[in-house]
Amino acid sequence: MDELISFAKRRGFIFPSSEIYGGLNAIYDMGPLGVLLRNNIKQLWWKHAVQMRDDMVGLDASILMNSKVWETSGHVKLFADPLVECKKCHQRFRADHLLPPTPAVPGHEREDVTSSKPRCPECEGELTEVRMFNTMFKTNFGPVEDDSSVVYLRPETAQGMFVNFKNVWDTARMKIPFGIAQIGKAFRNEITTGNFIFRLREFEQMEIEYFVKPTQWEEAFNSWLEWMKQWMTMIGLDEKKIHFREIPEADRAHYSKRTIDIEYDFPFGQSELYGLAYRTDFDLKNHSQGSKKPLEVRDLQTNEVFTPHVVEPTFGVDRTMLAVLLAAYTTIEGGRSTTTEANKEQEVILRLPKALAPIKVAILPLSKKEELTKPAKEIAQQLRNKWMVAYDDVASIGRRYRRQDEIGTPYCITVDFDTAKDHAVTVRDRDTMAQERVAIDQLQQYLSTHLEY
Ligand code: ATP
Repeated sequence: MDELISFAKRRGFIFPSSEIYGGLNAIYDMGPLGVLLRNNIKQLWWKHAVQMRDDMVGLDASILMNSKVWETSGHVKLFADPLVECKKCHQRFRADHLLPPTPAVPGHEREDVTSSKPRCPECEGELTEVRMFNTMFKTNFGPVEDDSSVVYLRPETAQGMFVNFKNVWDTARMKIPFGIAQIGKAFRNEITTGNFIFRLREFEQMEIEYFVKPTQWEEAFNSWLEWMKQWMTMIGLDEKKIHFREIPEADRAHYSKRTIDIEYDFPFGQSELYGLAYRTDFDLKNHSQGSKKPLEVRDLQTNEVFTPHVVEPTFGVDRTMLAVLLAAYTTIEGGRSTTTEANKEQEVILRLPKALAPIKVAILPLSKKEELTKPAKEIAQQLRNKWMVAYDDVASIGRRYRRQDEIGTPYCITVDFDTAKDHAVTVRDRDTMAQERVAIDQLQQYLSTHLEY
């Protein structure tokens, strides 16, 4: 993890937020390459979750909502974690994180956090009694700062989709089963943070609420589970590092009839990457009652009016980014080059799936002479119309290749002294290092085929 964290900073993927003022715990900023990787993750997800399906539509609800949403959903009362404080060093911890991990055995009763007596993991000090700590961030809406103006930063994107259900149903002309997808920021005032971008206080989610007839939930649940498996393959995660944990009833949220946590072998241990839950008709029923607006639909065949049930696959953007970077980050001692004796230091290759690579192509003229830089810049500019392109004419070609390998650029294109004669360039593949001569007027076609995106 330490190596990845310093790599992510050094190459401009992820920076600690407001770093020149000492940072802000569990908040990070995306650097020039980080924002590209992040956008690619979100675009790929959106493409497969919405664009490629005829049963999905998108939504972008606001972060701030009427507080009644959170009162009705139960978040104001229940979105809380068990907190303990060390009486000696005054550090605070999530009590359930201090317990031994729950074995993945259906029917297993969760150990009662109040009955077991763990000690402070930092100084072995005695801990206070457990109290519940609500992790929603509050702020005031408008110029008056009193209880009536309290609003919350949403702790999940899901509620935006439930409260808009009627609007979407009335306008999008969908039939049950269908789903709404949304990508957006969420905020949780987590008691304990850490592990880089794994547990943040400001993060982003990609969520789907899939609305079904009550009898269809199992089919939808299984099919979204398959979808999630395919997604994880697509983003380059090794299936041996992925674990599906059936959450026993005692540990499930009260509204969920079935939940599977998808966990990943992070360097700090096996931890939740994604979740899949069957939320019954809990949310729509609740908001129907809370708002006094029926959130129901009519079955056109039977004429029956019913509240749709919901299957929810949920994905953290930041945890995806962390898993993707960890999976792609490869080091090779002594480097891959067999031709030069000089380079025997460690080489880093970021073996990102091409669709996620921040920069798709790097244009590298073999010399700084204008006869090479001019056509090289022209090629770069043409390709920019379609892809993120880097242009680099500084340092030896070997070093420039390594700079691009390190950030995962799938293709490097060298412009050499033959280019003027044969109107062709050399394309080098990041993973195989194989080189191919390609005519300049065929370059777009070549890259379109090879980048598959
Ligand atoms: P955890 O048990 O790790 O606290 P959770 O079960 O509370 O997570 P959900 O409420 O199911 O998480 O949130 C859906 C997804 O959002 C998670 O699977 C995860 O990918 C992401 N996520 C949740 N909390 C955070 C956080 N604090 N920082 C980054 N991502 C998060």
